Amino acid sequence: MTTWTVLGSSGGTPTRTNPASGYLLEAASTSVWVDAGTGTFMELARRVDPGLLDAVVISHVHADHCTDLFGLYGYLAYGPSGIVPMPVYVPPGAGEHLAAFAGATAEHVFHHVLDLRTVTAGDRIVVGDVELTFGDAVHPVPALVTRFETPDGAIVYSGDTGPGGDLPSLAADADLLVCEASLQGERTPGTYPYHLTASEAGAIAAAAEVAELVVTHVGAILDPAVSLGEAEAAFGRSATYAAPGTTFGIDHSDDEGAP
Ligand SMILES: [Zn+2]
Ligand SMILES: [Zn+2]
Repeated sequence: MTTWTVLGSSGGTPTRTNPASGYLLEAASTSVWVDAGTGTFMELARRVDPGLLDAVVISHVHADHCTDLFGLYGYLAYGPSGIVPMPVYVPPGAGEHLAAFAGATAEHVFHHVLDLRTVTAGDRIVVGDVELTFGDAVHPVPALVTRFETPDGAIVYSGDTGPGGDLPSLAADADLLVCEASLQGERTPGTYPYHLTASEAGAIAAAAEVAELVVTHVGAILDPAVSLGEAEAAFGRSATYAAPGTTFGIDHSDDEGAP
């Protein structure tokens, strides 16, 4: 069983009841923290020892996806744990921004506990039992779409993206697509180009023939039930909202014994 736990999913900002974007992927003996939005470090630490993660993936350096990385930095540098350095996969330019915020010069402890590794579209890496493939999102800053091939199947995470980019191709035949749906209603010429509407998320999932769609990063002031309805209408099937605390599972053994 491979699981994807929603640590937080609020689009753009944390709210009183939902941290910003962050997820915990657990596959066989491997655990990866995917996005470190505000509020997600504590949710992570309630579930696993952050010092025992195998890697971190930061989709991009918007605050709602990366600020709690500094929680992990402090934990590894000054906390009770001690397995360092932690690999942190980031898009181009992000490492410089993160180090600058920490005031980290070359020999700073920041670089001893966080091993920032830049990845670009087309890169494939292996973290324990999981193979990660990265693609380009359509966003105002360099941003990653990530496909995780696990022993139980494929999970694809959109990060933040507008229409286009590598999400449609990376999502092909995924067992679980965790797709941003920041916006509601039909796209018009005035619609923000760097996020998806819920309908677009559903349409991408349908075209990619994914097994399961999880709608996430719904704008903080929007009603997720409305977004879910719009996504399901375009998907043609039921989908699920990424409510904080939810764990989604994929299990290769589900296929065994099927007629
Ligand atoms: Zn965001
Ligand atoms: Zn963003």
